[in-house]
Amino acid sequence: MAQPAVTAPGDEKSDRPPVPGLVDRFGRVATDLRVSLTDRCNLRCGYCMPAEGLVWLPKESVLTDDEVVRLIGIAVTRLGVTEIRFTGGEPLLRPGLVDIVTRVARLEPRPQLSLTTNGIGLDRLAPALRAAGLDRVNVSLDTLRPDRFVALARRDRLDAVLAGLHAADAAGLRPVKLNAVLMRGVNDDEAPELLDFALRHGYELRFIEQMPLDAQHAWRRDAMVTADEILAQLRAVYTLEPDPRHRGAAPAETWLVQGHSTSDGRPARVGVIASVTQPFCGACDRTRLTADGQVRNCLFAQEETDLRGLLRSGADDETIAEAWRGAMWAKRAGHGIDDPTFLQPVRPMSAIGG
Ligand code: SAM
Ligand code: SF4
Repeated sequence: MAQPAVTAPGDEKSDRPPVPGLVDRFGRVATDLRVSLTDRCNLRCGYCMPAEGLVWLPKESVLTDDEVVRLIGIAVTRLGVTEIRFTGGEPLLRPGLVDIVTRVARLEPRPQLSLTTNGIGLDRLAPALRAAGLDRVNVSLDTLRPDRFVALARRDRLDAVLAGLHAADAAGLRPVKLNAVLMRGVNDDEAPELLDFALRHGYELRFIEQMPLDAQHAWRRDAMVTADEILAQLRAVYTLEPDPRHRGAAPAETWLVQGHSTSDGRPARVGVIASVTQPFCGACDRTRLTADGQVRNCLFAQEETDLRGLLRSGADDETIAEAWRGAMWAKRAGHGIDDPTFLQPVRPMSAIGG
């Protein structure tokens, strides 16, 4: 795989204010860190990977557990990060996951810890992850029909995903959130069915517009199922009311589902992440670390900052923190998908960490 451009640490220092946090030129402050623990996966979702998979990162370039914990420690103790989301690839494939969660949960101030997963293996791991300090999970579930699951993910694993979901809920990794991507001609009519499933089980469902982050570069805007289409499908069956809760930096716009509540009596909600048709870049509070130790200031960034090189050359924590600040200062105002000059990032979603 071609590698993205790597910036030298401190490139963007000149006009940056001397504050400890991860600020950028547009007044945003990143407090939510997405950590990719592996680029590998046991599914092959069509919007993410080709059927044959990808050339995985060589083992020696992937951060060790100690390196991951050290970088997260720098983010939490020096850079003001308050939320950590473990992702991938498929993070449950990372052998040291439970140990990493245990060590990160001991950091002070303790960050909120969540995991985005396809759910396979969660039936076995959920109790240990909960005991280690994980607060909650997002499980990706695009369809409830086994034949469609095979068409979407190219593996016959729907039962394993559902078992994982139930185990996460039983272990108290709540609220369990579901992420669903609709693909034209495959599951584009399934929004109400997925919401019915989520409401019956007390899960919070969010639909995500398909983004140009597939390794095959096959995304086409005119084929994408839009937020408006998803909402129209839902409104044909449910009454949705605007959510009075303040959205803040949350990527999902949420609605209350009239007449439905969660098992603990809160109003039931459904969300849509309209990254393409209604970008929310102005409120973005994210910073990203890839499995091979590169900081990305945006999913769609063309540049990365190499923290692994710094780590392995013996840099101290403040030098690494300063490189991270420089990376975030260079964040662009928006992803520019609608711009004629838009270029899809070199790395696909599975290698960036979704
Ligand atoms: N393997 C885990 C999973 O599937 O949940 C974690 C990594 S996956 C890259 C994270 C999230 O990104 C999933 O919810 C997936 O549906 C979403 N995703 C992947 N490719 C996408 C794309 N091209 N557009 C929108 N969402 C995408
Ligand atoms: Fe794997 Fe997640 Fe990508 Fe699907 S979306 S192929 S489960 S990394």
